[in-house]
Amino acid sequence: CKDILDSRRREKSASPEAQSDAPAARSGPPAIVEGIQGCIGNTPLFEIKSLSDATGCEILAKAEFLNGAGQSSKDRVALSMIELAEEQGILTPYSGDTIYEGTSGSTGISLASLARAKGYLAHICMPSDQAIEKSDLLLKLGAIVDRVPPAPIVEKENFVNRARALATAHTASTTVAVPETEGDLVEPSDRMARGRGFFADQFENEANWRAHFGGSGPEIYIQCNGKIDAFVAGAGTGGTISGVARYLKPLLPDITVVLADPQGSGLYNRVRYGVMFDVKEREGTRRRRQVDTIVEGIGINRVTANFEAGKELVDDAVRVTDAQALAMAKWLVEKDGIFVGSSSAVNCFAAVKTAQKLGPGHRIVTMLSDSGSRHLSRFWKKAGNVGGAVDTKLTDVLNA
Ligand code: PMP
Repeated sequence: CKDILDSRRREKSASPEAQSDAPAARSGPPAIVEGIQGCIGNTPLFEIKSLSDATGCEILAKAEFLNGAGQSSKDRVALSMIELAEEQGILTPYSGDTIYEGTSGSTGISLASLARAKGYLAHICMPSDQAIEKSDLLLKLGAIVDRVPPAPIVEKENFVNRARALATAHTASTTVAVPETEGDLVEPSDRMARGRGFFADQFENEANWRAHFGGSGPEIYIQCNGKIDAFVAGAGTGGTISGVARYLKPLLPDITVVLADPQGSGLYNRVRYGVMFDVKEREGTRRRRQVDTIVEGIGINRVTANFEAGKELVDDAVRVTDAQALAMAKWLVEKDGIFVGSSSAVNCFAAVKTAQKLGPGHRIVTMLSDSGSRHLSRFWKKAGNVGGAVDTKLTDVLNA
């Protein structure tokens, strides 16, 4: 495997451009942009060398943690949803309108940051089992935060349903009770002066996949000069995988699109067997199996509008256990100094599995959605520290 890669790297360095005396053309630093919104998108794509060496494929990762507002891929989506609502006249900058959202954290952080930049208030509902640093950050950004007990989507108290209900109540009345939070509470008298309530609705709002269709997808295509054999991504709302797949598939019909799915998510079965439930093959029956995961941001048990938008384009799925995600996260630090969150570790694990399935010589692109610093109190607490003199083998990660 290593030989194939080394010879490819030699070819690259022996190319006419590399041999020329002229300095290589560089695009230079980006021009001055307007506001924090201008720091979203155009993220670097880089090779994860340790994974390339170990698989004989070229494993490329998009550094989405470098998006400038909320430091995750969700910046693209938050901006896209806000801009669409502004175009439709649902939101008006500096009017005091409030953006409501149900989120595992990342989308809320992006919305809260952009809300500040554009003169809105943000009210974020998130499950109480997500890493505490995400809700702390939301409070620092001046958002109202409701941490609600985890509940299935069919229940009223589910974080998404709660955000929707609050937005509806806000718009319908100026006298609804303000929930108890540690956030920037707005006194009832001030509510009269507040604008409308807008439910961003990242799961169903198609501005989500369109942000990746118009952003991540074309960026990846250009960065790869149109040479990509597989794209691998998890799905929290489905926006990333649908948007990128919808952009790339018509241009590259042979590309393999792979869903990276954490334990406990129903999408793996949906992609592989057409059903959301676990299949008990021997008895030929289906059953729901509730499995928890420490991975945050990806894995769902329903087909959202954003997953629906691209689900026919998803060719395969890889299921990743928590142990495998933890082992991969530590590998990325140990070998490459890359410190990522749990969903990125799942993506990289699935990228390796895809490389093994396709065989050496292929180029696989995946997403590093956010940084490990968002996951210190939960995922990385469980992972522990990376030892100084360890030499982990990829088989240890695959068999974790
Ligand atoms: N990684 C993280 C950390 C996320 O928060 C999310 C979104 N919930 C994703 C990945 C998945 O992205 P998408 O919603 O586009 O499926």
